[in-house]
Amino acid sequence: MPLIVTGTIGIDTVETPTGRAERVLGGSATYFSAAASFFAPVRMVAAVGGDFDDKHRHTMARFPNVCVVGMEQRPESKTFAWGGKYLENMNVRETIFTELGVLTEHPPLTPQEYRDSKYVFLANTHPAVQQELLSNFPDRAIAVADTMDLWIDTANDDLKDLLKNIDGLVLNDQEALQLTGKRNPITAGKAILDLGPSFAVIKKGEHGCVMVHRDGIAALPAYPAEIVIDPTGAGDSFAGGMMGHVAARHAAEHFGGEPVSFDMLQEGLVRGTVIASFTLESFSLDRLAELNERELKERMDEFQRIVKVD
Ligand code: AMP
Repeated sequence: MPLIVTGTIGIDTVETPTGRAERVLGGSATYFSAAASFFAPVRMVAAVGGDFDDKHRHTMARFPNVCVVGMEQRPESKTFAWGGKYLENMNVRETIFTELGVLTEHPPLTPQEYRDSKYVFLANTHPAVQQELLSNFPDRAIAVADTMDLWIDTANDDLKDLLKNIDGLVLNDQEALQLTGKRNPITAGKAILDLGPSFAVIKKGEHGCVMVHRDGIAALPAYPAEIVIDPTGAGDSFAGGMMGHVAARHAAEHFGGEPVSFDMLQEGLVRGTVIASFTLESFSLDRLAELNERELKERMDEFQRIVKVD
């Protein structure tokens, strides 16, 4: 069930009302991979610079189901770095700085041994880099992308081109508004389908998510989290849980040429919601790195009890 992701590996500096973390491991591809790896093996394609040190490497190594053969080392370059600050209610985030580093250079190469990947996720990075990775997988079963304010602002044409070639888009409600001009998430989701994809998943932070799909609509509350230390990476982790489940289930059932179904994606939303609730509980990937199968299963069961509808 080869699942592949490209995106950023980041060095993050994050401030929340509970504390501050300086130059810790982050990045869209990193959070995605760590979360997805609880459901399926993941291949990561991304570049880092000479400032990516042993501490960051050690954190990565805590996720043995993530293959880092596609992590390109560029000793003369700088790793993508991002600084963010959360306000008191943790729903509002300010970006303090974005240092693109390796993102301004050529896109990372996809190793030959990754070419049989069937499930493709394009985590947040420049849409032209996302398109470049995508072009390596003409026989894919599904391709889903994420995007955010910076790229909607600065690379809108590239993003619109990408949307014509992918099956799904995952983004938050503010980004959906920015992309479509529609405040209502259902209306925004439908407007995204008009741009090409078959489905859009719109994340609404602590209010959960909604999926607008050509075959219908699904909605889910967030896990009612009591411990929120740092929400950074929750969105990427959500996507990781969703895609990890989709890859595992679609591959296991040998659907031949069958497309990934609405049901598989809907189940993916549940896994994404649950795994993201662990990411919130620490800075960086610390909580995910400690997470075990039993805790994950217990929270899945608990969440299923919470959302039960008859
Ligand atoms: P999330 O909280 O899910 O939006 O993801 C935050 C992560 O995305 C952080 O670890 C950052 O390193 C990374 N990030 C922040 N801005 C960008 C950007 N413009 N493109 C790609 N990754 C980003």
